[in-house]
Amino acid sequence: MKNRVSRKVMRFKESVIREMSRKAARLQAINLAQGFPDFPAPADIKQAACGAIEADINQYAVTWGAKNFRDAIAAKTKWHLGLEIDPETEVVVTCGATEGMIAAMMAIVDPGEEVIVFEPFYENYWPDTILSDAAIRYVTMHPPEWNFNPDELRAAFNEKTKAIIINTPHNPTGKVFSHEELRLIADLCIEYDVIALTDEIYEHILYPDPVRDIRHISIATLDGMRDRTITINSLSKTYAVTGWRVGYAFGAPDLIHGMRQVHDFLTVGAAAPLQEAGAYALARPPEYYDHLQKDYQRRRDFLLGVLEEVGFKCHKPDGAYYILTDITDFGFVDEIAFTDHLISDIGVAVVPGSSFYRNPQMGAHHVRFCFCKKDETLHAAAERLQKLR
Ligand code: PLP
Repeated sequence: MKNRVSRKVMRFKESVIREMSRKAARLQAINLAQGFPDFPAPADIKQAACGAIEADINQYAVTWGAKNFRDAIAAKTKWHLGLEIDPETEVVVTCGATEGMIAAMMAIVDPGEEVIVFEPFYENYWPDTILSDAAIRYVTMHPPEWNFNPDELRAAFNEKTKAIIINTPHNPTGKVFSHEELRLIADLCIEYDVIALTDEIYEHILYPDPVRDIRHISIATLDGMRDRTITINSLSKTYAVTGWRVGYAFGAPDLIHGMRQVHDFLTVGAAAPLQEAGAYALARPPEYYDHLQKDYQRRRDFLLGVLEEVGFKCHKPDGAYYILTDITDFGFVDEIAFTDHLISDIGVAVVPGSSFYRNPQMGAHHVRFCFCKKDETLHAAAERLQKLR
């Protein structure tokens, strides 16, 4: 009998993160695994979505994105990143950053071409390479600073390299790539004629440091990179609407044209009324982002304090809303055994570190907590975690 599913699909495993969410619900554990807010989305943004439905914006939008929304993306990109982009030719609206990344890869990669991925990595990038027939090359970032070795990065580039995936601020480490690191990546992209695919979904979630200069830098803004970068973003994290599935990408017209074609055949388009609400959201004043940053800083500092108090060694994140912790001192055989203990006996769900590595052994000493949760959720988790002492 023939295989009923493709060889590509046979390579996939269940998403560990989503599996942890289901397990948390079954065992009534507090879910600090999957990165979605449990607090309400901003009232005015929800109102904009309801208004759009009431105003009967309920039919297909233009496949590559409603004009209003693309204009809002261009306007926000100008004030926030200082980049001028043409909403007519350089923007595509997608169903989340998730579709943005896979559509970008399908648009640019031919079978056998290579894509460089930094590990640990957000778990979707690996299946994205399978779906787009890319060969993957990993460059490891090392704790505690999550630095990579420039020589290893250089060695990963070759004639077959088509793209490099960057994610800054980074899930799961909280690393924010520095100008120096991005310049090195950019120079290699230029030398080897490689496209940068940059996932900047956490661009507004940053934690200033009194000593180090923590800034979000978009690689597209570096000299020589504007036309060889596809920047991917989303409403999901910045506006607390992960279920809306509205994202976008911008880049040079030929690359975006390719993405628009893939996107058209994959999904036809993202939800029309939610794109209208997205146009409203992206026009929020800078104070919106200041509040967002301060709220996350409070949550980060709280959870960091609790985790350190009960015995975790934490990698203090500079951005995004996760804390990757070292669990060696707890004496479990590996992070799967520890995660099971945490969910079943302590009542808190987290993600085992192995889900962020190609070789599970490399993540065997880590688990990831997320803190995009209400204060009361974090306090309840803190109380349960005291049992670890
Ligand atoms: N990219 C990164 C780095 C993420 O952490 C996530 C979600 O956790 C996504 C993309 C998914 O984004 P979206 O909800 O826009 O598809």
